[in-house]
Amino acid sequence: MTVMPVIVAPDQRLKAKCQPVENVDSDISRLMDNMLESMYAANGIGLAAPQVGISKRIIVVDVAKKGETPSPILIADPKIIQKSEEIALNEEGCLSFPDYYADISRPVEVTIQYLDNHNEPREINADGLLARCLQHEMDHLDGVLFVDYLSYLKRNIILRKLTKSKKMEK
Ligand code: ZN
Repeated sequence: MTVMPVIVAPDQRLKAKCQPVENVDSDISRLMDNMLESMYAANGIGLAAPQVGISKRIIVVDVAKKGETPSPILIADPKIIQKSEEIALNEEGCLSFPDYYADISRPVEVTIQYLDNHNEPREINADGLLARCLQHEMDHLDGVLFVDYLSYLKRNIILRKLTKSKKMEK
């Protein structure tokens, strides 16, 4: 398996709307495995394909805590078919925004349909951290980042700081 570097914002590749997969073949399945490996290597609980520069509707998540049995979910073409009216405010971070966290409001519970790594249609009902993680990763597929929920001012402060630290690395 290959660990792919995670793209850090601001980057145009994180703002694009991704293409549907439609058929999970062996190449896509391998990509899912590599994304999972990359996510674990970065200590993340979710990763979307555009974060590794691939404009396809693929996400991987695993919200198991350290020491618990890993429970990876490999997802292509996810669609939310139901979401709760109840909204929760909770802290979120993102591998593309290292060291930045913000409180974001999202539905507490969602049901999504998707294709798994064997091209099988599946449905999952999630709440709590998993529901939040799924919604965050699905947003990435439409070029939506968690900072887009913040005020213009807050978002710009974060993006300016990230731009500055990118320049310092060069
Ligand atoms: Zn993210």
